[in-house]
Amino acid sequence: MKTVITAKLKLLTSPAPETHSSVAGVDVGVRYLAVTSTTKGDCTFHTGKSIVPKANHYARLRKRLQKKGTRSATRRLVVISGRERRLKADCNHRISRRIVNAHPHCIIGLEDLTHIRERTKRRTHKRKPNGKGTERVSSKQRKSNRHASKWAFAELHSYIAYKATLAGSMAVKVDAHYTSLACPRCGYTSGANRPNRGLLFVCQSCHAILHADLVGARNVALRTLLIRQDWMSTGVLEVSPDVSCDEAKAARRLRYAELRWSIDTSPRLPGVR
Ligand SMILES: [Zn+2]
Repeated sequence: MKTVITAKLKLLTSPAPETHSSVAGVDVGVRYLAVTSTTKGDCTFHTGKSIVPKANHYARLRKRLQKKGTRSATRRLVVISGRERRLKADCNHRISRRIVNAHPHCIIGLEDLTHIRERTKRRTHKRKPNGKGTERVSSKQRKSNRHASKWAFAELHSYIAYKATLAGSMAVKVDAHYTSLACPRCGYTSGANRPNRGLLFVCQSCHAILHADLVGARNVALRTLLIRQDWMSTGVLEVSPDVSCDEAKAARRLRYAELRWSIDTSPRLPGVR
């Protein structure tokens, strides 16, 4: 028992590349709340199918009550907001627990979410069918935009981070730049790799076809692997990307562009239904 405790304490106090032997990447998004990928090709998809509609229901109620503005509406608003928040927190706890349990002694890469709002922004305009100019999306789409509840991704990340530390793993942040547009196999980066911004990622250079959400997770995993390699060679662990220095940012992106996914030889589409 004592040795177990000392071993655990050692993991908590002095992490080393030897104690964190594997690497995984986590991508968050609106379609799947989280997708994970290891560098060995294992992946998991965590859907919010049973939870997100409930969260949207609460968001809808909340917005209606806000508009009303009476005292009893405000009182009800507090109750509804609490339910919405707890529903998301509960779901985030379950997903983070599953992810951390599935990756022992692991460096778990998370995206730096500074610009997440831009990435999860709902579409208000779309390209016209003839390709010239844009038009507003359908009223149905606009209605669903209005009622969408914003998911608490930062909370999910913080849960993963503290659970990982307690379990002897660790979470690091990687640059989120182009994680969904870069081909993990050949490195070709373009918006055209996501035809119609759909479910499929189709590389325009090497023609690899992948689930769009898996691409993000794989790219994060590759970038996390880079952090581990640096850690092994320099002895210094960089837990979050340096965003203050433009030169460091440019150098990092050059290295990212050279990352290649090598195990992926099968054209099978994991997670595509
Ligand atoms: Zn490619």
